[in-house]
Amino acid sequence: MIDFETPEKIVGVCTVIKTVADNMMRPVSRHFDENEHEIPWDYINFMHTAARAMGGSSMAPGDSKKEGPRIGFQRLAHMVEMLSWGDAGIYLDTPGGMLGSAAVSATGTPEQKERFLARFRGETPTFDAMCMTEAGAGSDTSAIRTTAVLDKNTKEWVLNGEKIFVTAGHKALVDSQGFIVVWATIDPSAGRAGMRPFVVEAGTPGCQVTKMEHKLGIRASDTVSIVLQDCRVPFDNILGSPEVVTDKATTGFKGAMATFDATRPIVAAQAIGLARATLELLKEMLAEKGVTIRYGLPRQKLTSIEKDVIDMEILLRSAWWLVLKAVWMMDNGKPNALESSMSKVRAGDVVNRITQKAVEIMGPLGYSREYLLEKWFRDAKISDIYEGTGQINRLVVARQILGYRSSELR
Ligand SMILES: Cc1cc2nc3c(=O)[nH]c(=O)nc-3n(C[C@H](O)[C@H](O)[C@H](O)COP(=O)(O)OP(=O)(O)OC[C@H]3O[C@@H](n4cnc5c(N)ncnc54)[C@H](O)[C@@H]3O)c2cc1C
Repeated sequence: MIDFETPEKIVGVCTVIKTVADNMMRPVSRHFDENEHEIPWDYINFMHTAARAMGGSSMAPGDSKKEGPRIGFQRLAHMVEMLSWGDAGIYLDTPGGMLGSAAVSATGTPEQKERFLARFRGETPTFDAMCMTEAGAGSDTSAIRTTAVLDKNTKEWVLNGEKIFVTAGHKALVDSQGFIVVWATIDPSAGRAGMRPFVVEAGTPGCQVTKMEHKLGIRASDTVSIVLQDCRVPFDNILGSPEVVTDKATTGFKGAMATFDATRPIVAAQAIGLARATLELLKEMLAEKGVTIRYGLPRQKLTSIEKDVIDMEILLRSAWWLVLKAVWMMDNGKPNALESSMSKVRAGDVVNRITQKAVEIMGPLGYSREYLLEKWFRDAKISDIYEGTGQINRLVVARQILGYRSSELR
């Protein structure tokens, strides 16, 4: 039975993370926003050392056997919410398991999980990234053109193509000995059935970061283009069982969807943390101006600002509950494609609405760089773009409810 009370173990973790957010994120938020492509190493090294001391990697959703009921994804959602309350861009620089490792966890064999994820427990911070998007293949992931061809003589996969908008790609390949997961097709005529994920490790010849984006928001996080030119990876770096190679079923695409089912609620949690930060700062700024929210009064007696703030609180809370349901389902092994996309749609809408309204209510102070409201307004937009845009996740929700396949409702 789902329980909305935060488990005690998670409360403890969040208390620690709040200290990190207060002391290592907020004070440098503006600096890393204004100095795009600078790396917050103090934060990164601290998170890495802390995670090692606890015997794991910062962002792994794994459960220890001692824990009783599985709460790994719930814990991750709470951690991400709190880190994003600190700074949604710096949070994306957390070492030890992001989208690339989510793909490894969702699609890899037990041996591959151990081989690739063990490096996060090493001495230096290590990063990972996931490369799906290409020019002409964003929302329609089945249109990817990056190819993987098996060299039968050397038993290596040869990858060719270009990936764009890769979060943390620079950190994974250049700033650390990490890895990226590249989605490529082993049969361009087969559409989604030909898609497979491949791990490309830092330092692999033929894999190069070619461009760093300059962005509207989450500027503390690097977003890059990556070119793969005759890039050879070992046969065993295809994620999942090698036997699926000859199988025409949609194993690869299902792997992509399984990855998104796990990661979309986490992206939603990022949005919720940012929205909560905004609402709290808004209320503080209003209080400084002598405006407090008179909860409990009949609605007709409230000012329009009070109504706005209360409406925002309702939106925030309802969106967070959708996230909690989606991660609870992950933890309990229940199919959650519907809840995962729902939580992402809702949280994306809510964070954009709350940050926009906060800037509007505070007027010039909302627009000024003296406060973080304008930054958070810019940081919010990404929640509605990556891991499937708002429109695409709405399509997923509609298909799930109506029982349509993607070919029937697009
Ligand atoms: C900062 C940033 C970081 C990113 N990080 C990553 C990453 O780490 N890895 C990765 O692989 N990708 C990443 N992306 C890419 C992101 O996932 C894509 O931008 C997103 O999926 C949209 O794809 P697109 O840009 O090609 O837009 P398009 O697919 O061209 O869509 C353009 C617009 O049309 C709408 N649209 C498209 N199809 C439909 C439809 N059928 N019905 C209704 N509306 C539709 C979309 O919602 C969107 O509004 C990142 C993007 C950004 C901006």
